[in-house]
Amino acid sequence: MTAKQRQERYSRRVPLVDLGLQYAALKDELDAVVGRVLASGQYVGGPEVEEFESEFAQFCGTPHAVAVGSGTDALRFALKAVGVGKSEGGEGSKGSNPAGERAEVVTSPLTFIASAEAISQAGGRPVFADIHPVSLTLDPAKIEQVITSRTAAILPVHLYGRPADLGPILALARRRALPVVEDACQAHGALYDGRPVGSIGDAGCFSFYPTKNLGACGEGGMVTTSRADVAARVRKLRDHGQVEKYRYAEEGYNGRLDALQAAILRVKLRKLAEWNERRCAVAERYRSGLRDLEERGALVALPGEMPRSRHVYHLFAVRLTDRDRVRAELRELGIDSGVQYPVPLHLQPAYAWMGLREGAFPEAERAAQQVLTLPLYPEITNSQVDRVCEALRMAVDGR
Ligand SMILES: *Cc1c(COP(=O)(O)O)cnc(C)c1O
Repeated sequence: MTAKQRQERYSRRVPLVDLGLQYAALKDELDAVVGRVLASGQYVGGPEVEEFESEFAQFCGTPHAVAVGSGTDALRFALKAVGVGKSEGGEGSKGSNPAGERAEVVTSPLTFIASAEAISQAGGRPVFADIHPVSLTLDPAKIEQVITSRTAAILPVHLYGRPADLGPILALARRRALPVVEDACQAHGALYDGRPVGSIGDAGCFSFYPTKNLGACGEGGMVTTSRADVAARVRKLRDHGQVEKYRYAEEGYNGRLDALQAAILRVKLRKLAEWNERRCAVAERYRSGLRDLEERGALVALPGEMPRSRHVYHLFAVRLTDRDRVRAELRELGIDSGVQYPVPLHLQPAYAWMGLREGAFPEAERAAQQVLTLPLYPEITNSQVDRVCEALRMAVDGR
């Protein structure tokens, strides 16, 4: 291909995500519910939020779902509710965690910082364990090695939309009498052993950040749980610890979901299963379009299906040894791509206090150097996917 041909062919960029298309497809419905909420005069909490909570609980197969301000809020509140950090007094929630003795929460170093940040903000201390080289989620065998008498909980992250290996993680947690909080912020609708994530551990935490599989037009989050005590504590924490009008059991937060976001999310929730199907079909098309590259070793790995789990492809992350070169080449060919995450958390300045160096978690470090995420959203066309495959092939082969 000549430079001119290439330029013509790739003049239309393929973006990593395109949220405008989602709005265009749902414009009438979304405009109507926004108008309805604006006219209602009830903007924080209220019936839209309650309806959304019950619809999301049903989607996840949990008896309780408590809407909060963000995925980060969901993590903070759920961790506190299962007993991480010092109890703030009142209402008998002391005991499981005297004086913060059991404060460590085990999580993955290959995740968004919110997973670890929420642990500290809940009054705990993040402790990292390495990931499994294929699933890129917490390796159950590595968790075992870092559990101590100070461990308070385990926080597996369903990274990129793939469930962490919850079977062995829950078995380990049960043996050690530890609660499990699922970071399902990237995995709405993913399944493990046929059960929706968020319904398997003590609590599940979801984000409705706009780019997530289910995204608001602003911030939002949800805690799902089968434990009534956890649901009740999260309800208190999201509303300043309030138990009845101007009566506070403990200090809490301003962590509520607003009615506009709830109304928008209710419309989008009805599309989520169909959108996830499409994400899986796009992933399959990428896999068949790129399989030969994997087979002849031109790229390290495509994301494969793991036993017991259904991946919902929040992101489609391939692994490449010369990721940064390929990424630059793709950009030139009009293809956007992403890197989640370029630096694992244990090597971030924010966690320098842990004193961990390169080599501490080799699998997470290798993945951080190799992962490249390709454009994937429900509205992407097959011909766009094919163009991405073609461009990746050119980039990998150095043309
Ligand atoms: C998005 C995300 C969060 C945080 O959610 P917010 O809604 O942005 O606060 C937490 N963990 C993971 C893995 C995420 O992807």
